[in-house]
Amino acid sequence: MKPFPGIDTLDVAQKRVLVRVDFNVPQDDSGAISDDTRIRAALPTLHALLERGAEKLVLMSHLGRPKDGPDERYRLLPVGLRLAQLLGREVLCLGETVGEGVERAIRSAPAGSVVLVENVRFEKGETKGDPELSKRMARLGDVFVNDAFGSSHRDHCSVSGVAHLLPSAGGLLLQREVEAFERVLHAPERPLVAILGGAKVSDKLKVVDNLLERVDCLIVGGGMAYTFLKAQGIGIGASLVQEDQIENVRASIQKAEAKGVKLLLPTDHVVAERFAADAAAKHVKGSIPDGWMGLDIGPETVAAYAAAIEGARTVVWNGPMGVFEWEAYSKGTEAVGRAVAACSGYTVVGGGDSVAAAEAFGLTESLSHVSTGGGASLELLEGLDLPGISALRR
Ligand code: AMP
Repeated sequence: MKPFPGIDTLDVAQKRVLVRVDFNVPQDDSGAISDDTRIRAALPTLHALLERGAEKLVLMSHLGRPKDGPDERYRLLPVGLRLAQLLGREVLCLGETVGEGVERAIRSAPAGSVVLVENVRFEKGETKGDPELSKRMARLGDVFVNDAFGSSHRDHCSVSGVAHLLPSAGGLLLQREVEAFERVLHAPERPLVAILGGAKVSDKLKVVDNLLERVDCLIVGGGMAYTFLKAQGIGIGASLVQEDQIENVRASIQKAEAKGVKLLLPTDHVVAERFAADAAAKHVKGSIPDGWMGLDIGPETVAAYAAAIEGARTVVWNGPMGVFEWEAYSKGTEAVGRAVAACSGYTVVGGGDSVAAAEAFGLTESLSHVSTGGGASLELLEGLDLPGISALRR
């Protein structure tokens, strides 16, 4: 990927700096923030901009998926309050996203202010990339910084639209994320091992295809592995399968052979009688009997995967090895996560579920990079250029 300008290239002194952050944090039923990782991840850029003499910071983010304009559940006020605590300074939270009232409030805020405008997705044009909305957003700042890695695969007004209208740069988080994936994809120390898991093989086929061009070993687990096994004629019982992807998967298996990539698939499984946390479960090797479904990789598979991971100098992991949310089927994901954490090479974890698993098992401190963006990291692994990043290069 071609480099993009960082904040050191942007003249921010005495300027209103409009910053797209990713404050799309998980909330519990009462609306309380259950994980503020994404807010913390933006702090280095915000501190750096203030230190470099920015007159005001105007922050914008989305939260959740409001369907039809303003929705009380998705107001950014709780996020602003948490940000104020973490930043150690007041944050002025506005009830609107754009418009004269917002412009006036920003103008009259004292120098050094941090202003958080309302959820950008309350504006219907946001996800459509409406040029008029991009212009209204651009009026809120003199320069623009995109630090929302988790949204950079979106061609939305607040991500790419404004970047085309103002002098722009990528923030420190964006830079760190892109550098991590660059190191894996374009300058890996070898052997490079990729681990893919998760439910649907169709979501990951483009990633498989791109990774087969680059990796020495591809490890597949989780629900997506059963389509691979079926493509090889192995019995998978009632496991998750995407029949319409069998041909594509067969082509991937052939590509792995042609490229000399070692493809590791599960050889034993924890199987259940039905898809439930408390279903009767057992361990099987080889084919899965009729009526049973594979919900986790078994110990023999874990040992083979861990051995490959141990010998790696670079590892990238995306997707759980089983239904890790249920204790009975979490062992494979935990063991693979522990193997990645113990690997002395460079280790990157991307994707919402594998990050959640790494956190649940207390592994994040031992990993080289834990990505804040699920969809965005998957698109980087697919080899795509992200709209929010390409818009910064002019
Ligand atoms: P994804 O969003 O595609 O990364 O998939 C993550 C989801 O896949 C998690 O919620 C897991 O519970 C689920 N998953 C992993 N392995 C299996 C499996 N063997 N059968 C069904 N679902 C699975």
